[in-house]
Amino acid sequence: MVSIKLKSKKTLRKKCDKLWSEIVRSKKYCEKCGILANNPHHIIGRVNYVLRWDLKNGCLLCQNCHWLQKYSAHQDPLGFMEWLKLSRPEDYEYLKQRKNQISQPNYDEILKYLKFHEALTSSGSLEKLIRKSINGEL
Ligand SMILES: [Zn+2]
Repeated sequence: MVSIKLKSKKTLRKKCDKLWSEIVRSKKYCEKCGILANNPHHIIGRVNYVLRWDLKNGCLLCQNCHWLQKYSAHQDPLGFMEWLKLSRPEDYEYLKQRKNQISQPNYDEILKYLKFHEALTSSGSLEKLIRKSINGEL
């Protein structure tokens, strides 16, 4: 088995990005308008490595709510933040507190966190996840 430390940072970033996107996509429906959706959106931009792979920084949107329409997340970021503050007040406060922190990404920890959430998403419940873990399936 190849140690995670031997892999390049770029490979690790790509792997984390892919996992993050898959988990956010598992919500299936646009969080703003409720139609089927396929656009995982970073609430605080991807250049922020403290929040880039944090699932609280993810929002699943349809194309219209993501970037096409006038009031989309990318065309009206302030309006989007107002929506977030009303719809997900805890996540809004969480992101507000952490967005200016600076730290180097710890890819081992990020991958562990994302893999846990991926397993939780595909298991459907925490109970099933614990059972899988006990049975050595993880
Ligand atoms: Zn939408």
